[in-house]
Amino acid sequence: MRAPGARRMIHTRVRSVSDSSVEPTQGFGFFASRSNSAMSSAGHCDLSIERLRRLGLAIDSLGVAITTRKCLDAGGRLSEQVECPQVLTAWERVYRLLRDAFPPAHYHRGRGLARVTQAARGVLAHFSDGATVEADLLVGADGIRSTVRQQCLPEMTPRYAGYSAWRALIAEGAFPSEVHRELFEFMSFGLPPGEQFLGYPVAGPDNDLRPGHRRYNIVWYRPADEKTKLQWLLTDARGTTHSISIPPPLIRHEAIAEMRADAERLLAPQFRQIVRLIEEPILQPIYDLTSPRTAFGRVAILGDAAFVARPHVAAGVSKAADDAAALVEALQTESDVARALQRFEAARLPENHRIIERARHLGAYLQATQTGEERARAGRHSTDAAVVAETAVLDFLYA
Ligand SMILES: Cc1cc2nc3c(=O)[nH]c(=O)nc-3n(C[C@H](O)[C@H](O)[C@H](O)COP(=O)(O)OP(=O)(O)OC[C@H]3O[C@@H](n4cnc5c(N)ncnc54)[C@H](O)[C@@H]3O)c2cc1C
Repeated sequence: MRAPGARRMIHTRVRSVSDSSVEPTQGFGFFASRSNSAMSSAGHCDLSIERLRRLGLAIDSLGVAITTRKCLDAGGRLSEQVECPQVLTAWERVYRLLRDAFPPAHYHRGRGLARVTQAARGVLAHFSDGATVEADLLVGADGIRSTVRQQCLPEMTPRYAGYSAWRALIAEGAFPSEVHRELFEFMSFGLPPGEQFLGYPVAGPDNDLRPGHRRYNIVWYRPADEKTKLQWLLTDARGTTHSISIPPPLIRHEAIAEMRADAERLLAPQFRQIVRLIEEPILQPIYDLTSPRTAFGRVAILGDAAFVARPHVAAGVSKAADDAAALVEALQTESDVARALQRFEAARLPENHRIIERARHLGAYLQATQTGEERARAGRHSTDAAVVAETAVLDFLYA
């Protein structure tokens, strides 16, 4: 029985079978928070933690706590080290927390939203199985390939950043003891010219945080020209070139062999040993996206459906959480749905643009091609000290 005045809302986050190219549960580490000592400056990720806490979610064992970041040169010598207490968690840990708290009656798996129609008094969602649902508003939180954005902003498509990421999750138990002692409990970087190799610990399967049972997440960003190298990487053994990403089992052996050979040539000995442990790598071309608007009458888009940040600020989840919180606040403040969504848009557009711009600055040196301005950014953000200090921190939002 819907409470008087309660709004009917459709929130597109149906786990659709079609979205199987890269299942977010694999190989995804998240930076959760900096320790209280940095609360005053950083604070943003902790705000997301605070949001989870206010939702009554158990966040005590959210992830792996680390204190220090390291950078190794090509010879494996320490070139940079900073104290940066943080908790690192995995995508599925955050997903599970939220999913288990969401009323199952309202979570529909395998039903894709096909299109939306709006009328003066409501919005109609048309699903791939032919069903339709009417509501007061529709929220498109349907990710980087958003069906809702494609309908509301057909001209806005994800912009390829000029580089892609090899990613993998490695079992802690597979680590050689020497490499484990030197690297496992740290966020570690290797910076071959124009590239970034990054590794850090996350929880094991089923959020197992016991030493010996955790996993190590690696991300290796490498330039890939859009017209040549990227097409080669996204072409499978049958000669089919995939768009946006390629399912891991279809990545060609030559592409993986090249990655492994380059690791032996370019990376520190410790990282070479880690790359040799990779069983099934994931290849993720990096895109970003900004939207000029996020409110369209009774329809709103948020999270990656509206703004996609390159991963260097690690703000994707907290940005989506802040969008959702601003939407709730606007709907609680404004009784007219369309005006409430405009209020939400005004509240979030400036910060989301800043997050995307910051990530572009931090990733400029990884691009296959650069403009003059991007070369200047690359100079500022590609030093060992800058990369170690600036990656996955949101202080810039409060500077
Ligand atoms: C390499 C890499 C590393 C990253 N690292 C971090 C990190 O460390 N920290 C961080 O915070 N973020 C990180 N991110 C970004 C983060 O994953 C995203 O920002 C975040 O998942 C966005 O959440 P979302 O809910 O907006 O979209 P998504 O998580 O993409 O969810 C969209 C949902 O919509 C569903 N859907 C899609 N189309 C339809 C449809 N038509 N009908 C119904 N349902 C649909 C999908 O099945 C999916 O469940 C990283 C991203 C990449 C690529």
